[in-house]
Amino acid sequence: MAWGGGFGGSGPMFGGGSSTSSGLPFGGIPSELMDEATKLLAQEPDHPASNIHFTQRPNERERHRLTLPRLISAYPKWVVGGSSLVILTSLTLQAGPKLTEYAINNGMVSGHRSLRVIAVCALLYLALALMSVVAQRAQVVVTGKLAARVMHDLRIRVFTHFQRLSLDFFTEEKSGVLMSRMTSDIENLQQLVQDGISQFAIQGLTMIVITIILFSTNVVLAAWTVLLVVPLLFVLSIWFHGASERGYLLSRDRIANVLADLSESLYGIRVVTANNRQRRNITNHRHVVGAYRDANLYTGRVSAIYGPSTVMIGILGQGLLLGIGGQMVLRHQLSIGALVAFFLYLNRFFQPIQLLVQQYNSLQQGRSSIIRLRELLETSPSVHEDREATDLATIQGRITFEHVDFGYLEGQLVLADINLEIAPGESVAFVGPTGAGKSTMAKLANRFYDPVAGRVLLDGVDIKNVTLHSLRSQLGVVPQEAFLFAGSIRTNLTFGRTSITDAEIEEALDVVGLRELVTRLPQGVDTVIHERGQTLSAGERQLLALARAFLARPRVLILDEATSSLDLHSETVIEHALDRLLEGRSAILIAHRLTTAQRADRIVVIDHGGIVEVGSPRELIERGGAYSKMYDAWLASGGRDATRPDALSN
Ligand code: ADP
Repeated sequence: MAWGGGFGGSGPMFGGGSSTSSGLPFGGIPSELMDEATKLLAQEPDHPASNIHFTQRPNERERHRLTLPRLISAYPKWVVGGSSLVILTSLTLQAGPKLTEYAINNGMVSGHRSLRVIAVCALLYLALALMSVVAQRAQVVVTGKLAARVMHDLRIRVFTHFQRLSLDFFTEEKSGVLMSRMTSDIENLQQLVQDGISQFAIQGLTMIVITIILFSTNVVLAAWTVLLVVPLLFVLSIWFHGASERGYLLSRDRIANVLADLSESLYGIRVVTANNRQRRNITNHRHVVGAYRDANLYTGRVSAIYGPSTVMIGILGQGLLLGIGGQMVLRHQLSIGALVAFFLYLNRFFQPIQLLVQQYNSLQQGRSSIIRLRELLETSPSVHEDREATDLATIQGRITFEHVDFGYLEGQLVLADINLEIAPGESVAFVGPTGAGKSTMAKLANRFYDPVAGRVLLDGVDIKNVTLHSLRSQLGVVPQEAFLFAGSIRTNLTFGRTSITDAEIEEALDVVGLRELVTRLPQGVDTVIHERGQTLSAGERQLLALARAFLARPRVLILDEATSSLDLHSETVIEHALDRLLEGRSAILIAHRLTTAQRADRIVVIDHGGIVEVGSPRELIERGGAYSKMYDAWLASGGRDATRPDALSN
């Protein structure tokens, strides 16, 4: 068939047989890899079809404010298990020095020499150490599983929220920001749930346990240690925390500068070379890289002060203990065993403080991530479904704009007092210069946005009062830039309605004139298309999008015609497909080509946010107004030019 020639594309991705020479990329598995693929597939576990209930309004659980405890409490068993293991780990870890004390006092000092006591203590020591290792391992597994589940839930919750939000949100928010919510923010939280919280609990508990043991062993010595060592350590840690946070922020800002400079220089390399800017660029880069190095040096200096200083404080404490404790031993106020145990505990006392200070940043990051995610989840869609919204019954297709005002930004109207009625089965073309408000009219009909004033009605029902699902299932939209998803041609075609038979798909392909070509592909309609169909030409993608709309069988069709100039043949095929698609349907065509406008039942000329003219193509040409000027310009350019933006202004 003639259309085969149109699929020039960029050729097959794999060298998969002669049938791909027609041009559509062959996306299946090459035969030489098929055996391996079959083996891999055999190892795949069963994935039962998930049962998804999507409602436009969030359910009871999704309406709750996002907090970490609430997220975690969805898995009470895992939380109880994890906490018990944390307690067990901290207790078993701290039994060692106490056993040492017992072994010295009851097995080593004169009068109490006993190999049996020493052996039992040593064995117990070993057993408890082993137990703490096992408990720690189990705890890591449990918190890891808990974190994985909690984050899985959160990812789905955020993604579901994206599906509910209105179009304005996605145009205002940069997709990069949204991606970072889904990646780095959720990863920060995962880190916190997986390691952070349990580490905080273990270290905190360890400090409490040690303090209790120290005081129960000897109040005086414990008081000396705590009073002297803890304040020093506390002051030092507060300083370190502030300084390291400053360093962290500094290096984060400066690495951002390095990356920005790098990407600008790389993207602009042609301009750089052409203008001999290399030397200046190197100087610039040296400057930002130097600033980043300084920030890193600062962080290094801070750590170099904190680490050795805590060791110094520890040594100071030990010296103090040796002096005061030794005297107490001589006065028989303290046993040798207890003194040794004190030494051992004192060393262990510092570790949690150091770890807690170092982990503080990750706690802070987790906290700010949860705040950002909470804000995101609390954004409500600007186009929301009314509580009393009912399903829209099957419509005839009468579309009414009633005194509609609309603006994207407050106080700036893009459309003002629009009144228009489109009869069932009628096709209406919107024409006018770029930026006049044609697409905006279409977006209002589909309820991507709500009018600021006035109403949009379908068969006399205000579309604000019906459920979004029932509304959109009767409206078909073919956007200007046809978007194809990763997957086969079939999945792309059956996007709007799932229960579609092969016969229907074939009919749709016939209508848009792609059937012969698709059947020639190695896997027919199951051939996978790559990278959102970027390997197809714009015309081919447009035809597939038309076939998709045809299969969805909407009552009303809204079509934003592709502006990219198609070759004459493609245009004819698309127009033929359009004729079939529009049969018996009401349609809004945003017409960039006057050929399309001429085929519509009526033409609406829009300019500066208002309707300038309405009438059948013939009437408008005879009237000699704005449209007839565009028409004349079009004829003068050989009938191939798109609507001329300047045609209306003169
Ligand atoms: P047309 O389809 O006639 O070319 P549009 O309906 O797309 O025009 O746009 C009408 C006006 O609204 C233009 O001035 C455009 O800049 C503005 N506009 C369109 N989309 C947005 C948006 N998301 N936010 C703000 N302004 C917008």
